[in-house]
Amino acid sequence: MAKVIDWLNQNRKLLFSLEITPPDRGKSVDDILTAIETLMPFEPQFINVTYHQPHMVYEEKDGVITRRPRRKKPGTVGICSAIKNRFRVEPVPHLICGSFNRYETEDTLIDLHFLGIENILALRGDPPPGQPRYIPEKDGHQYACQLVEQIAQLNRGQYIDELEDPFPTHFCIGVAAYPEKHFESPNLEKDLFYLKKKVDMGAEYIITQMFYDFRLYRDFVEKARAMGIQVPIIPGLKPLVSKKQIMSIPSSFHVNIPAELVALIEEARTREQAFASGVRYLARLVERLIAYGVPGIHVFTMGQGRAAKALLETVFAGKL
Ligand SMILES: Cc1cc2nc3c(=O)[nH]c(=O)nc-3n(C[C@H](O)[C@H](O)[C@H](O)COP(=O)(O)OP(=O)(O)OC[C@H]3O[C@@H](n4cnc5c(N)ncnc54)[C@H](O)[C@@H]3O)c2cc1C
Repeated sequence: MAKVIDWLNQNRKLLFSLEITPPDRGKSVDDILTAIETLMPFEPQFINVTYHQPHMVYEEKDGVITRRPRRKKPGTVGICSAIKNRFRVEPVPHLICGSFNRYETEDTLIDLHFLGIENILALRGDPPPGQPRYIPEKDGHQYACQLVEQIAQLNRGQYIDELEDPFPTHFCIGVAAYPEKHFESPNLEKDLFYLKKKVDMGAEYIITQMFYDFRLYRDFVEKARAMGIQVPIIPGLKPLVSKKQIMSIPSSFHVNIPAELVALIEEARTREQAFASGVRYLARLVERLIAYGVPGIHVFTMGQGRAAKALLETVFAGKL
């Protein structure tokens, strides 16, 4: 089944997807493909590939300073094509608003369509490192709902310019959501209001930011439903298995770590103990989510194939 929404609607088996990140510029693609290979026994139905904004570097030559964009992690579209050809698994490229104007977005959508890619996770995108806030390109999108609208328009054959007999694309569109609210949003209600806008514009399902407390997901889903958001809401999960991550995950992703999980990791005497405690905690969270009736599970692997494999063996044994 090529589209995420078709898998979700067939309602026979829990959806299981992985999220990977392209390697840094200059690194081999083989490493990431090998990492994916090790995760194939878990039979993911979809593999998401993140997209990253370039950061700006300033170069001085003969007294003239030039601003040049540098993308640290290029290759999202190429990896998607490799995943499709090599593993026969449907890729879900992330497409961001940042660093694209609407014409470049349209060109990228045409590339993806020609490659036979049928799913897109539409995002605003994080500002690049060193830039405190998101700045759209001239003629680019300020919010993800505008990107969703552009993709939905292309699905109806509406290009930016009027064209004679234009072909329609047929992308299934997913979007992101935040059980603890997006960090820029004044409150969860306002954030949900804009989430609904993405759905009204054409988003067919939602993947959440990571969270570590079942109640956060449950309350979020209930509030979303009360606001009229009826599409499937897939929980995003990132294993927290080291002392370092107790600091890095909240600061990078603006999420809370429950006291129980912090204590479990802090009490561990060795790295292996911390790893095992984090895995057990996540396994219990997954059990509660499945019992609650989630439509799927989305695992952020962040390119750590071996660690993810060890975690998935414990977390998902017999559950998918
Ligand atoms: C599953 C998942 C995958 C991700 N993958 C990537 C990735 O590959 N690359 C990457 O760079 N980042 C990624 N991110 C991070 C994401 O891009 C950032 O969190 C970004 O800051 C917000 O993106 P968004 O699509 O949720 O934005 P939006 O939906 O545009 O929301 C951004 C903020 O603006 C507010 N808002 C939305 N619409 C409006 C409006 N019309 N008027 C006023 N305010 C509005 C929202 O409440 C929110 O506070 C991912 C996040 C998740 C959860």
